[in-house]
Amino acid sequence: MKTITIWALLIILSIAMAQFAFSQIYDPANGFHCEEDLEEYLIAGYSPSSSGGFFKPERTNNYPGTNSNSVFRILIIFVQFDNDTIDVNNSNWPSGSAPAYINNLLATDRYNDYGSSWWEAYSESNAKLSDYWMELSRGNLHVTGEAHHLTLEHPWYWYNSNGGLAQINTEIYDSLDLKLGTRWREFDNWAYEEGTYKYQRDGKIDMMYIVYRTWRNVGVTPGSAATLYTSTQGNEHVTVSNDTIVAGFGQLGSGCTFTPGAPGGIASPFSADKFAPLQAHELGHYHFGWCHARYGIMAGGDCGFFTGGSRTPWEQKA
Ligand SMILES: [Zn+2]
Repeated sequence: MKTITIWALLIILSIAMAQFAFSQIYDPANGFHCEEDLEEYLIAGYSPSSSGGFFKPERTNNYPGTNSNSVFRILIIFVQFDNDTIDVNNSNWPSGSAPAYINNLLATDRYNDYGSSWWEAYSESNAKLSDYWMELSRGNLHVTGEAHHLTLEHPWYWYNSNGGLAQINTEIYDSLDLKLGTRWREFDNWAYEEGTYKYQRDGKIDMMYIVYRTWRNVGVTPGSAATLYTSTQGNEHVTVSNDTIVAGFGQLGSGCTFTPGAPGGIASPFSADKFAPLQAHELGHYHFGWCHARYGIMAGGDCGFFTGGSRTPWEQKA
């Protein structure tokens, strides 16, 4: 009986492995891939020697300066090109509008009144990403923030002869200057000093997600990447509030870029369910480094594509 069970398991495993081998066909992420070569973007000069997060803190407690209001605050901006003609009536994110789920991703403020039931601190339906990180960290990582939407001034092809991606980023940051003003500093809460994260400002924005409605060939790597790209100011963009947005991946990197683009064609805009594991993967690069694993949320590497889903026990350390 036992032998039969083992044989059945082996057969199931071999079928699963065959599907991994034929990754062009078996694509559970529906074309959403992490395609970046992060070492290319690595900011030199910073030793990833910290515990509790490779390049960003994995928890909002137990670090110097943390208190009962400590948060890891994320600024999301959903961006679309003017006159985006791809899948215009997509119900998750129709062309010309903000995503339907824009206000259901991040809690504005940290919530503390949950007793010992950390899994109930945030609502999956109203604050999907806050809920995700709270549950993933088993009650140790309070992620809050806000999300905005921007329709760029021009269609995608205009930028190719007018400053390219750097111009797009400057347009994005200028729009956020108008929306946020001095509130930019609400997104600078963490510093890395003396071998540890500290809950204090360092003048640099902690984490921004730039999320494109559609991928177009303007210089953004198709798929998603744990990096922001340069603006017309270069790798460091100074905001109206005198805070700095840092392009590139590493200790000082300020964000991630997401597009539904993938090798083989143009994909439809993200749903919230597709976006959640992708951001977990890319922020996961800040937690775990640039390598990919064979399975779990940091899957990729040899498989050549990102499978998404859940974390391994190792990734889910508290
Ligand atoms: Zn990746």
